[in-house]
Amino acid sequence: MPERMCIACRKKAPPESLFRMVAGPGGEVYAELDSRLPGRGAYCCFRAECLNRALAPGNLARALRSEITAPAADEIAASLCSLLGRRIEGLLGAAWRKKVVSAGRDAALRAARPGGVGRLFLAEDLAAGSREEVLKRASLGDESASPAELKMTMERVGAVFGGRPVGVFFLADASLAETVALRSSQVSALAPA
Ligand SMILES: [Zn+2]
Repeated sequence: MPERMCIACRKKAPPESLFRMVAGPGGEVYAELDSRLPGRGAYCCFRAECLNRALAPGNLARALRSEITAPAADEIAASLCSLLGRRIEGLLGAAWRKKVVSAGRDAALRAARPGGVGRLFLAEDLAAGSREEVLKRASLGDESASPAELKMTMERVGAVFGGRPVGVFFLADASLAETVALRSSQVSALAPA
């Protein structure tokens, strides 16, 4: 896939690093993660700063070459966060079916052996004490596999993994783990500073 350019900062990036906005027939604006919606699209980084600049008067209309009702930045951010949340759930579900998930603190830390393939994830509402312990124990292992913060609650993670809330898990699939970490960092980057 060719690189795309952010209409705000003008940086070029691979498609998965940008989201796309298109105008609907009534001038309403939709945001999407992939290039599925028909029509001329405008790309933007997953950054609150770029989103704000992209939506500044005239910018998006010019990029889309269309009359639009400029949406509020927090509306687009909320819609993207919801899409990203569902995307992350889909990736976690795929990992669960592939049996590359070790859920729960002890199982996850056992699976996160030094030099092993994959990554540890911490749910956003993991208790501070547990978080500290996991970070301490994980830091004894491989530096490159530092735990990733997942912008998702323990309950929501647990629902994907078959039941009880899950605050810590290990994904033993480098590519899935990388994609989950990227999508989660995009949720964080959209949050207002
Ligand atoms: Zn940008």
